[in-house]
Amino acid sequence: MFGRVPKKSDNTKFYEVLGVPKSASQDELKKAYKKAAIKNHPDKGGDPEKFKELAHAYEVLSDPEKREIYDQYGEDALKEGMGGGGSSHNPFDIFESFFGGGAFGGGGSSRGRRQKRGEDVVHALKVSLEELYNGTTKKLSLSRNAICSKCKGKGSKSGASSRCYGCQGTGMKITTRQIGLGMIQQMQHVCPECRGSGEMISDRDRCPQCKGNKVTQEKKVLEVHIEKGMRDGQKITFEGQADEAPDTITGDIVFVLEQKKHPKFDRRFGDDLYVDHNLSLTEALCGFQFALTHLDGRQLLIKSNPGEVVKPGQYRAINDEGMPHHQRLFMKGKLVIQFHVIFPESGVFSPEQCRKIESVLPMRPSKHLTDMELDDCEETTLHDVSAEEVKRRKEQRQHRHREAYDEDDDDDESAPRVQCAQQ
Ligand SMILES: [Zn+2]
Ligand SMILES: [Zn+2]
Repeated sequence: MFGRVPKKSDNTKFYEVLGVPKSASQDELKKAYKKAAIKNHPDKGGDPEKFKELAHAYEVLSDPEKREIYDQYGEDALKEGMGGGGSSHNPFDIFESFFGGGAFGGGGSSRGRRQKRGEDVVHALKVSLEELYNGTTKKLSLSRNAICSKCKGKGSKSGASSRCYGCQGTGMKITTRQIGLGMIQQMQHVCPECRGSGEMISDRDRCPQCKGNKVTQEKKVLEVHIEKGMRDGQKITFEGQADEAPDTITGDIVFVLEQKKHPKFDRRFGDDLYVDHNLSLTEALCGFQFALTHLDGRQLLIKSNPGEVVKPGQYRAINDEGMPHHQRLFMKGKLVIQFHVIFPESGVFSPEQCRKIESVLPMRPSKHLTDMELDDCEETTLHDVSAEEVKRRKEQRQHRHREAYDEDDDDDESAPRVQCAQQ
Protein backbone atom coordinates (compact mmCIF):
# COMPACT_ATOMS: atom_id res chain seq x y z
CA MET A 1 0.00 0.00 0.00
CA PHE A 2 2.89 2.31 0.63
CA GLY A 3 4.53 1.52 -2.63
CA ARG A 4 3.33 4.89 -3.79
CA VAL A 5 3.09 7.53 -1.12
CA PRO A 6 0.07 9.66 -1.91
CA LYS A 7 0.89 13.29 -2.31
CA LYS A 8 -0.07 15.38 0.64
CA SER A 9 -3.46 16.91 0.13
CA ASP A 10 -5.73 19.06 2.27
CA ASN A 11 -6.49 17.40 5.59
CA THR A 12 -8.37 20.10 7.48
CA LYS A 13 -11.49 20.51 5.33
CA PHE A 14 -13.58 17.88 7.13
CA TYR A 15 -12.85 19.47 10.48
CA GLU A 16 -13.83 22.85 9.09
CA VAL A 17 -17.04 21.46 7.66
CA LEU A 18 -18.03 20.21 11.11
CA GLY A 19 -16.61 23.30 12.80
CA VAL A 20 -14.37 21.40 15.24
CA PRO A 21 -10.62 21.55 16.00
CA LYS A 22 -8.36 18.79 14.73
CA SER A 23 -8.02 17.54 18.29
CA ALA A 24 -11.78 17.01 18.64
CA SER A 25 -12.85 13.92 20.55
CA GLN A 26 -15.39 11.43 19.19
CA ASP A 27 -17.95 13.00 21.46
CA GLU A 28 -17.29 16.49 20.18
CA LEU A 29 -17.51 15.22 16.59
CA LYS A 30 -20.84 13.61 17.34
CA LYS A 31 -22.24 16.75 18.91
CA ALA A 32 -20.99 18.96 16.11
CA TYR A 33 -22.42 16.66 13.44
CA LYS A 34 -25.75 16.31 15.21
CA LYS A 35 -26.19 20.05 15.57
CA ALA A 36 -25.15 20.90 12.03
CA ALA A 37 -27.09 18.01 10.45
CA ILE A 38 -30.36 19.00 12.12
CA LYS A 39 -29.82 22.58 11.05
CA ASN A 40 -28.97 21.73 7.45
CA HIS A 41 -31.46 18.91 6.88
CA PRO A 42 -33.08 19.43 3.47
CA ASP A 43 -36.48 18.68 4.98
CA LYS A 44 -35.97 21.75 7.10
CA GLY A 45 -35.04 23.86 4.13
CA GLY A 46 -31.31 23.24 4.47
CA ASP A 47 -28.86 23.01 1.57
CA PRO A 48 -28.68 19.36 0.35
CA GLU A 49 -25.04 19.80 -0.70
CA LYS A 50 -24.07 20.99 2.75
CA PHE A 51 -26.03 18.13 4.32
CA LYS A 52 -24.13 15.66 2.15
CA GLU A 53 -20.82 17.27 2.98
CA LEU A 54 -21.53 17.03 6.71
CA ALA A 55 -22.46 13.35 6.47
CA HIS A 56 -19.32 12.58 4.49
CA ALA A 57 -17.05 14.48 6.87
CA TYR A 58 -18.63 12.75 9.85
CA GLU A 59 -18.47 9.35 8.22
CA VAL A 60 -14.72 9.68 7.77
CA LEU A 61 -13.80 11.30 11.06
CA SER A 62 -15.96 9.02 13.19
CA ASP A 63 -14.02 6.01 11.91
CA PRO A 64 -10.62 5.96 13.71
CA GLU A 65 -8.89 4.16 10.83
CA LYS A 66 -10.19 6.51 8.16
CA ARG A 67 -9.50 9.48 10.37
CA GLU A 68 -5.86 8.50 10.75
CA ILE A 69 -5.41 8.17 6.99
CA TYR A 70 -7.17 11.49 6.45
CA ASP A 71 -5.08 13.24 9.10
CA GLN A 72 -1.87 12.02 7.54
CA TYR A 73 -2.56 12.16 3.83
CA GLY A 74 -5.83 13.96 3.29
CA GLU A 75 -8.98 13.18 1.36
CA ASP A 76 -7.31 11.92 -1.82
CA ALA A 77 -5.45 9.20 0.06
CA LEU A 78 -8.73 8.09 1.50
CA LYS A 79 -10.27 7.70 -1.92
CA GLU A 80 -7.34 5.60 -3.11
CA GLY A 81 -7.24 3.50 0.01
CA MET A 82 -10.93 2.74 -0.21
CA GLY A 83 -10.61 1.58 -3.77
CA GLY A 84 -11.54 4.42 -6.01
CA GLY A 85 -14.13 7.02 -5.38
CA GLY A 86 -14.59 5.98 -1.78
CA SER A 87 -17.78 4.38 -0.57
CA SER A 88 -19.87 7.28 0.58
CA HIS A 89 -23.16 6.27 2.05
CA ASN A 90 -26.47 7.87 1.55
CA PRO A 91 -26.34 10.98 3.78
CA PHE A 92 -29.91 10.34 4.93
CA ASP A 93 -28.90 6.87 6.13
CA ILE A 94 -26.00 8.32 8.08
CA PHE A 95 -28.31 10.88 9.61
CA GLU A 96 -30.80 8.20 10.62
CA SER A 97 -28.28 5.69 11.86
CA PHE A 98 -26.85 8.42 13.95
CA PHE A 99 -30.13 9.14 15.67
CA GLY A 100 -30.70 5.45 16.25
CA GLY A 101 -34.01 5.46 14.41
CA GLY A 102 -35.54 6.71 17.64
CA ALA A 103 -35.54 10.41 18.19
CA PHE A 104 -35.83 11.26 14.54
CA GLY A 105 -38.50 9.17 13.05
CA GLY A 106 -38.47 5.79 14.78
CA GLY A 107 -39.68 2.61 13.13
CA GLY A 108 -38.70 0.92 9.91
CA SER A 109 -35.73 1.81 7.83
CA SER A 110 -36.61 4.58 5.46
CA ARG A 111 -33.61 4.31 3.19
CA GLY A 112 -33.83 6.89 0.47
CA ARG A 113 -37.27 7.93 1.54
CA ARG A 114 -37.79 11.54 2.46
CA GLN A 115 -39.35 11.98 5.86
CA LYS A 116 -42.01 14.53 6.49
CA ARG A 117 -41.29 17.26 8.95
CA GLY A 118 -43.28 17.63 12.15
CA GLU A 119 -44.80 20.95 13.07
CA ASP A 120 -43.02 23.58 15.10
CA VAL A 121 -44.54 24.45 18.43
CA VAL A 122 -44.52 28.18 19.17
CA HIS A 123 -44.90 29.58 22.67
CA ALA A 124 -45.02 33.21 23.75
CA LEU A 125 -42.65 33.85 26.63
CA LYS A 126 -43.35 36.90 28.76
CA VAL A 127 -40.25 38.66 30.04
CA SER A 128 -39.67 41.85 31.99
CA LEU A 129 -37.45 44.68 30.78
CA GLU A 130 -35.19 43.93 33.76
CA GLU A 131 -34.75 40.37 32.48
CA LEU A 132 -33.85 41.62 29.00
CA TYR A 133 -31.40 44.13 30.49
CA ASN A 134 -29.67 41.73 32.88
CA GLY A 135 -30.20 38.42 31.08
CA THR A 136 -31.74 35.41 32.82
CA THR A 137 -32.51 31.72 32.51
CA LYS A 138 -36.04 30.40 32.74
CA LYS A 139 -36.86 26.78 33.38
CA LEU A 140 -40.02 25.72 31.61
CA SER A 141 -41.78 22.42 31.94
CA LEU A 142 -43.59 21.24 28.82
CA SER A 143 -45.30 18.03 27.91
CA ARG A 144 -44.90 16.57 24.47
CA ASN A 145 -45.35 13.38 22.49
CA ALA A 146 -42.29 11.16 22.51
CA ILE A 147 -41.69 7.98 20.53
CA CYS A 148 -42.73 5.11 22.81
CA SER A 149 -39.61 3.74 24.46
CA LYS A 150 -41.02 0.22 24.72
CA CYS A 151 -41.95 -0.42 21.10
CA LYS A 152 -39.61 2.19 19.60
CA GLY A 153 -42.56 3.73 17.81
CA LYS A 154 -43.84 0.57 16.17
CA GLY A 155 -46.99 0.37 18.25
CA SER A 156 -46.86 -3.42 18.52
CA LYS A 157 -44.98 -5.94 20.61
CA SER A 158 -43.76 -7.98 17.69
CA GLY A 159 -43.03 -5.02 15.49
CA ALA A 160 -45.42 -6.44 12.96
CA SER A 161 -48.39 -4.61 11.64
CA SER A 162 -50.70 -5.51 8.85
CA ARG A 163 -52.14 -3.35 6.19
CA CYS A 164 -55.41 -1.69 7.08
CA TYR A 165 -58.35 -3.34 5.34
CA GLY A 166 -60.42 -0.22 5.38
CA CYS A 167 -58.09 1.78 3.16
CA GLN A 168 -55.74 -0.85 1.71
CA GLY A 169 -52.89 0.83 3.55
CA THR A 170 -53.26 4.24 1.95
CA GLY A 171 -54.63 5.90 5.07
CA MET A 172 -57.26 7.64 2.96
CA LYS A 173 -60.70 6.57 1.91
CA ILE A 174 -62.61 7.73 -1.11
CA THR A 175 -66.35 7.72 -1.12
CA THR A 176 -68.48 8.52 -4.13
CA ARG A 177 -71.90 10.05 -4.14
CA GLN A 178 -74.30 10.67 -6.96
CA ILE A 179 -75.33 14.29 -6.84
CA GLY A 180 -77.33 14.54 -10.02
CA LEU A 181 -78.02 12.86 -13.31
CA GLY A 182 -74.68 11.37 -14.34
CA MET A 183 -72.83 13.51 -11.86
CA ILE A 184 -70.69 11.86 -9.24
CA GLN A 185 -68.93 13.61 -6.42
CA GLN A 186 -65.78 12.03 -5.04
CA MET A 187 -64.72 12.77 -1.52
CA GLN A 188 -61.44 11.82 0.11
CA HIS A 189 -61.12 11.59 3.86
CA VAL A 190 -58.85 10.10 6.49
CA CYS A 191 -59.53 6.41 7.07
CA PRO A 192 -61.39 6.11 10.39
CA GLU A 193 -60.21 2.56 11.08
CA CYS A 194 -56.48 3.27 11.12
CA ARG A 195 -56.69 7.03 11.63
CA GLY A 196 -54.63 7.63 8.53
CA SER A 197 -51.67 5.42 9.40
CA GLY A 198 -52.60 2.78 6.83
CA GLU A 199 -51.82 -0.06 9.18
CA MET A 200 -53.59 -2.16 11.74
CA ILE A 201 -52.23 -3.70 14.90
CA SER A 202 -54.17 -6.56 16.38
CA ASP A 203 -55.42 -6.04 19.93
CA ARG A 204 -53.25 -8.84 21.24
CA ASP A 205 -50.08 -7.48 19.68
CA ARG A 206 -50.64 -3.90 20.76
CA CYS A 207 -47.80 -2.30 22.77
CA PRO A 208 -48.94 -2.12 26.41
CA GLN A 209 -47.11 1.15 27.07
CA CYS A 210 -48.48 3.31 24.24
CA LYS A 211 -51.61 1.20 23.51
CA GLY A 212 -50.53 1.12 19.90
CA ASN A 213 -50.36 4.89 19.58
CA LYS A 214 -46.57 4.70 19.00
CA VAL A 215 -46.04 7.80 21.12
CA THR A 216 -46.41 8.58 24.81
CA GLN A 217 -46.71 11.83 26.71
CA GLU A 218 -43.47 13.00 28.21
CA LYS A 219 -42.62 15.85 30.55
CA LYS A 220 -39.65 17.86 29.50
CA VAL A 221 -37.90 20.74 31.24
CA LEU A 222 -36.30 23.30 28.96
CA GLU A 223 -33.85 25.93 30.11
CA VAL A 224 -34.42 29.06 28.10
CA HIS A 225 -31.44 31.40 28.16
CA ILE A 226 -32.52 34.97 27.75
CA GLU A 227 -29.42 36.87 26.80
CA LYS A 228 -28.71 40.47 27.69
CA GLY A 229 -30.17 42.87 25.19
CA MET A 230 -32.63 40.48 23.54
CA ARG A 231 -35.72 42.13 22.14
CA ASP A 232 -39.45 41.87 22.19
CA GLY A 233 -40.46 39.46 19.41
CA GLN A 234 -37.07 37.73 19.27
CA LYS A 235 -37.18 33.95 18.87
CA ILE A 236 -35.31 31.33 20.87
CA THR A 237 -35.40 27.97 19.09
CA PHE A 238 -34.94 24.47 20.47
CA GLU A 239 -34.28 22.45 17.37
CA GLY A 240 -35.97 19.09 17.09
CA GLN A 241 -37.66 19.29 20.49
CA ALA A 242 -41.33 19.45 19.49
CA ASP A 243 -43.72 16.48 19.36
CA GLU A 244 -42.18 13.29 18.07
CA ALA A 245 -44.00 11.04 15.63
CA PRO A 246 -42.98 7.92 13.71
CA ASP A 247 -41.25 8.59 10.37
CA THR A 248 -41.22 12.29 11.02
CA ILE A 249 -38.41 14.74 11.56
CA THR A 250 -39.25 16.39 14.83
CA GLY A 251 -40.11 20.07 14.58
CA ASP A 252 -38.73 22.84 16.76
CA ILE A 253 -40.00 24.41 19.94
CA VAL A 254 -39.84 28.15 19.42
CA PHE A 255 -40.19 30.72 22.17
CA VAL A 256 -41.14 34.21 21.09
CA LEU A 257 -40.17 36.82 23.65
CA GLU A 258 -42.93 39.16 24.70
CA GLN A 259 -41.76 42.09 26.76
CA LYS A 260 -44.09 43.16 29.55
CA LYS A 261 -44.71 46.89 29.74
CA HIS A 262 -42.41 48.51 32.29
CA PRO A 263 -43.90 51.07 34.68
CA LYS A 264 -40.94 53.44 34.32
CA PHE A 265 -38.71 52.65 31.35
CA ASP A 266 -39.75 52.42 27.73
CA ARG A 267 -37.44 50.79 25.17
CA ARG A 268 -37.48 52.63 21.86
CA PHE A 269 -35.56 52.72 18.56
CA GLY A 270 -33.58 49.56 19.25
CA ASP A 271 -31.56 50.00 22.40
CA ASP A 272 -32.55 53.41 23.76
CA LEU A 273 -34.40 53.66 27.07
CA TYR A 274 -36.87 56.44 27.68
CA VAL A 275 -37.97 57.60 31.10
CA ASP A 276 -40.23 60.47 32.19
CA HIS A 277 -39.30 62.71 35.08
CA ASN A 278 -41.33 65.49 36.68
CA LEU A 279 -39.58 68.65 37.86
CA SER A 280 -41.07 71.36 40.01
CA LEU A 281 -40.97 74.85 38.49
CA THR A 282 -38.26 75.78 40.99
CA GLU A 283 -36.13 72.78 39.94
CA ALA A 284 -36.65 73.57 36.27
CA LEU A 285 -35.49 77.17 36.79
CA CYS A 286 -32.91 76.87 39.57
CA GLY A 287 -31.46 73.37 39.16
CA PHE A 288 -32.14 69.84 40.37
CA GLN A 289 -30.56 66.56 41.33
CA PHE A 290 -32.16 63.18 41.94
CA ALA A 291 -31.30 59.45 42.04
CA LEU A 292 -32.68 57.21 39.31
CA THR A 293 -32.77 53.46 40.00
CA HIS A 294 -31.66 51.62 36.86
CA LEU A 295 -32.87 48.21 35.65
CA ASP A 296 -29.97 46.46 37.38
CA GLY A 297 -30.58 48.27 40.67
CA ARG A 298 -27.77 50.82 40.31
CA GLN A 299 -28.53 54.35 41.47
CA LEU A 300 -27.68 56.99 38.88
CA LEU A 301 -27.22 60.53 40.08
CA ILE A 302 -28.91 62.83 37.60
CA LYS A 303 -28.24 66.55 37.98
CA SER A 304 -28.50 69.79 36.03
CA ASN A 305 -25.57 71.97 35.06
CA PRO A 306 -25.22 75.26 36.94
CA GLY A 307 -27.48 77.95 35.50
CA GLU A 308 -29.33 75.47 33.28
CA VAL A 309 -33.07 76.05 32.71
CA VAL A 310 -35.13 72.98 31.69
CA LYS A 311 -38.12 73.62 29.45
CA PRO A 312 -41.37 71.58 29.63
CA GLY A 313 -41.10 68.46 27.45
CA GLN A 314 -37.34 68.80 26.97
CA TYR A 315 -35.21 65.67 26.40
CA ARG A 316 -31.76 65.09 27.88
CA ALA A 317 -29.73 61.90 27.38
CA ILE A 318 -26.97 59.92 29.08
CA ASN A 319 -24.78 57.88 26.72
CA ASP A 320 -24.26 54.13 27.30
CA GLU A 321 -26.97 53.80 29.94
CA GLY A 322 -29.58 52.36 27.57
CA MET A 323 -30.12 48.67 26.80
CA PRO A 324 -27.08 46.51 26.01
CA HIS A 325 -26.86 45.56 22.33
CA HIS A 326 -27.69 41.85 22.04
CA GLN A 327 -24.72 40.77 19.90
CA ARG A 328 -22.23 43.44 20.93
CA LEU A 329 -22.64 43.74 24.68
CA PHE A 330 -20.04 46.50 25.01
CA MET A 331 -22.36 48.71 22.99
CA LYS A 332 -25.26 50.26 24.81
CA GLY A 333 -28.02 52.63 23.81
CA LYS A 334 -28.80 55.99 25.35
CA LEU A 335 -30.86 56.67 28.43
CA VAL A 336 -33.16 59.51 27.43
CA ILE A 337 -35.02 61.47 30.10
CA GLN A 338 -37.99 63.59 29.15
CA PHE A 339 -38.61 66.33 31.67
CA HIS A 340 -42.07 67.60 32.54
CA VAL A 341 -42.39 70.81 34.52
CA ILE A 342 -45.05 70.93 37.21
CA PHE A 343 -46.22 74.51 37.65
CA PRO A 344 -47.53 75.78 41.01
CA GLU A 345 -51.30 75.88 41.54
CA SER A 346 -53.18 79.15 41.02
CA GLY A 347 -53.32 81.34 44.10
CA VAL A 348 -50.06 80.06 45.57
CA PHE A 349 -48.38 83.44 45.24
CA SER A 350 -49.57 86.62 46.92
CA PRO A 351 -49.37 89.89 44.93
CA GLU A 352 -46.35 90.83 47.06
CA GLN A 353 -44.59 87.53 46.15
CA CYS A 354 -45.47 88.01 42.50
CA ARG A 355 -43.68 91.36 42.51
CA LYS A 356 -40.64 89.66 44.05
CA ILE A 357 -40.64 86.87 41.46
CA GLU A 358 -41.07 89.38 38.68
CA SER A 359 -38.09 91.34 39.90
CA VAL A 360 -35.78 88.37 39.22
CA LEU A 361 -37.46 86.89 36.13
CA PRO A 362 -36.71 88.21 32.62
CA MET A 363 -38.69 91.34 31.59
CA ARG A 364 -42.24 90.96 30.28
CA PRO A 365 -42.19 91.09 26.47
CA SER A 366 -45.48 92.99 26.03
CA LYS A 367 -45.46 96.80 26.16
CA HIS A 368 -47.77 98.61 28.50
CA LEU A 369 -51.15 99.64 27.09
CA THR A 370 -51.86 103.36 27.35
CA ASP A 371 -55.05 104.57 29.04
CA MET A 372 -56.44 105.58 25.68
CA GLU A 373 -55.80 102.12 24.23
CA LEU A 374 -57.43 100.54 27.30
CA ASP A 375 -60.51 102.68 26.74
CA ASP A 376 -60.86 101.17 23.26
CA CYS A 377 -60.88 97.59 24.66
CA GLU A 378 -63.86 95.60 25.87
CA GLU A 379 -63.67 93.85 29.28
CA THR A 380 -63.63 90.00 29.24
CA THR A 381 -63.37 87.16 31.77
CA LEU A 382 -61.26 84.02 31.37
CA HIS A 383 -62.64 80.74 32.65
CA ASP A 384 -61.22 77.22 32.66
CA VAL A 385 -61.78 74.77 29.83
CA SER A 386 -60.63 71.22 30.58
CA ALA A 387 -58.86 69.13 27.98
CA GLU A 388 -61.83 66.73 28.00
CA GLU A 389 -64.20 69.52 27.13
CA VAL A 390 -62.04 70.59 24.20
CA LYS A 391 -62.06 67.01 22.94
CA ARG A 392 -65.83 66.73 23.35
CA ARG A 393 -66.43 69.97 21.48
CA LYS A 394 -64.20 68.79 18.65
CA GLU A 395 -66.15 65.51 18.33
CA GLN A 396 -69.52 67.30 18.39
CA ARG A 397 -68.29 69.62 15.68
CA GLN A 398 -67.14 66.72 13.47
CA HIS A 399 -70.46 64.96 14.01
CA ARG A 400 -72.46 68.04 12.96
CA HIS A 401 -70.21 68.50 9.97
CA ARG A 402 -70.85 64.92 8.83
CA GLU A 403 -74.58 65.31 9.16
CA ALA A 404 -74.54 68.47 7.12
CA TYR A 405 -72.42 66.80 4.51
CA ASP A 406 -74.80 63.84 4.28
CA GLU A 407 -77.71 66.20 3.67
CA ASP A 408 -75.79 67.82 0.85
CA ASP A 409 -75.28 64.39 -0.65
CA ASP A 410 -79.02 63.74 -0.62
CA ASP A 411 -79.62 67.02 -2.44
CA ASP A 412 -77.11 66.11 -5.09
CA GLU A 413 -79.33 63.31 -6.34
CA SER A 414 -82.04 65.56 -7.70
CA ALA A 415 -80.86 69.15 -7.46
CA PRO A 416 -78.25 69.41 -10.22
CA ARG A 417 -80.68 68.54 -13.01
CA VAL A 418 -83.16 71.15 -11.83
CA GLN A 419 -80.38 73.71 -11.66
CA CYS A 420 -79.32 72.91 -15.19
CA ALA A 421 -82.85 73.29 -16.42
CA GLN A 422 -83.19 76.68 -14.79
CA GLN A 423 -80.01 78.08 -16.36
ZN1 LIG B 1 -57.14 2.55 7.16
ZN1 LIG C 1 -45.35 1.43 22.52
